[in-house]
Amino acid sequence: MIAVILNETGYEYDIHSLVKAFYPTSEVKVFVEGEKDIGSDRGLPQIRLTRSREAITLLLSECKGEDGAWLPVAEKTAPLGPDADKIRVKNVLKQLIYEILSSYTGKSLPWGTLTGIRPTKIAMDMLEQGKAKEEIFRQMQETYYLSDEKGRLCLDIAERERELLSRIHYRDGYSLYLGIPFCPTTCLYCSFTSCSIGAWRDRVADYLAALEREICDTAAAFQGKVLDSVYIGGGTPTTLSPAQLEWLLDKLHRYFPFGSVQEFTVEAGRADSITQEKLQVLKACGVTRISVNPQTMREETLRLIGRKHTPEQVADAFHLARACGFDNINMDLILGLPGETGADVRYTTEAVRALGPDSLTVHSLAVKRASALSRWIAENGLQTIHNTDAMMEIASAAAASMGMQPYYLYRQKNMAGNFENVGYARPGCYGIYNILMMEEKQSIAALGAGSISKRVYPDGRIERCENVKDVASFIERIDEMIERKRKLFAE
Ligand code: SF4
Repeated sequence: MIAVILNETGYEYDIHSLVKAFYPTSEVKVFVEGEKDIGSDRGLPQIRLTRSREAITLLLSECKGEDGAWLPVAEKTAPLGPDADKIRVKNVLKQLIYEILSSYTGKSLPWGTLTGIRPTKIAMDMLEQGKAKEEIFRQMQETYYLSDEKGRLCLDIAERERELLSRIHYRDGYSLYLGIPFCPTTCLYCSFTSCSIGAWRDRVADYLAALEREICDTAAAFQGKVLDSVYIGGGTPTTLSPAQLEWLLDKLHRYFPFGSVQEFTVEAGRADSITQEKLQVLKACGVTRISVNPQTMREETLRLIGRKHTPEQVADAFHLARACGFDNINMDLILGLPGETGADVRYTTEAVRALGPDSLTVHSLAVKRASALSRWIAENGLQTIHNTDAMMEIASAAAASMGMQPYYLYRQKNMAGNFENVGYARPGCYGIYNILMMEEKQSIAALGAGSISKRVYPDGRIERCENVKDVASFIERIDEMIERKRKLFAE
């Protein structure tokens, strides 16, 4: 365990994420001075941060010698200024940690001190303030110590997003998300709300009935507003039967104004849930974009991660979707899956390229505490989980070779290699919902178990409300879920 000791509260989350990025396999704990248990493990450093009115000082110590005494090995002070606000204090704290740990470990982090999930939002804000590209690039490097490559990627994506958003009147509109929390099986790395459809089949009707009440009430709350995009995710929406899918999409059309909808996405996701009949229903109900997600085209890995479908099923589902008339098909990949190397990533990207999707979302494996992967790592170790610059480069080059450009990006905690997730798409096939959601550009009404609604105010302020994750509780407490949303979106 690495202990970080602060003399004030309020910065624990950011500090934890940054120290963890330097020591991904060690436990990191952030204490506020005076709390108990502040010793780091032998062999690991201890970090003490002290803020005064004028400056912040970082002291790095190691436990040396037989007597277990903590001896200082590095110290640095950065001026703050008496009027420093919370953002300035946070930035200086993180800069100090980065500088000291980078020279102590010999590591540099491609994303520098940035630990948030939306780095492109920073670039986008500065573009909206009218700053020039080079100035933004320089400012991001000076403040956050980003690598040249990540700085350019961030800026490139923010510019593309801005251009894409300029084509829609998103400021007056809203988007709709619906979660279907059922899947054929649970993937090893899953941290979403997902129940086995086999075990829950008898309660799907109850779930849909609860969802209908949410649909009806939300549509009334947004009456007169412009609906820009609709996204049905989960879970795996295509675990529903063709009749259930048709019923659900029919309800959406009945209650919401689809005339203004520019994009209607359904995550078909798992190849083992896709049939011709379901695809025909989606097509007939106006779905414009679907996902058929292989994650990897290595059969052995698919088995290991519990997806229970083969690469051939992925290819068959993809061809079926094309035959049903879908001209905007996304495929998700994950880099850093257990046992996979650069050669496996190349194999997967070539197999995907042969299919010819319209967009590709490349994820870096994220280890979520609630996932089975976390337990798998406890038993098997981290040795077989790698994501590297070279693997990211293979995926990015494959996307470019398919005529795609990066158009949205986000980061998660505990990602293999501390990289990012990037959405690539051919021109004209960008996922607008993804941009609106990641850049927090408009309100999103989110329905279904585990979904999070977001109200974006004209001044940029954001408020959220969550639906319970547990499906049975969602069904039982649907009135409460509806009431939460009513309050959030009340005029
Ligand atoms: S398909 Fe997605 S939601 Fe379903 S178990 Fe796998 S990761 Fe979870």
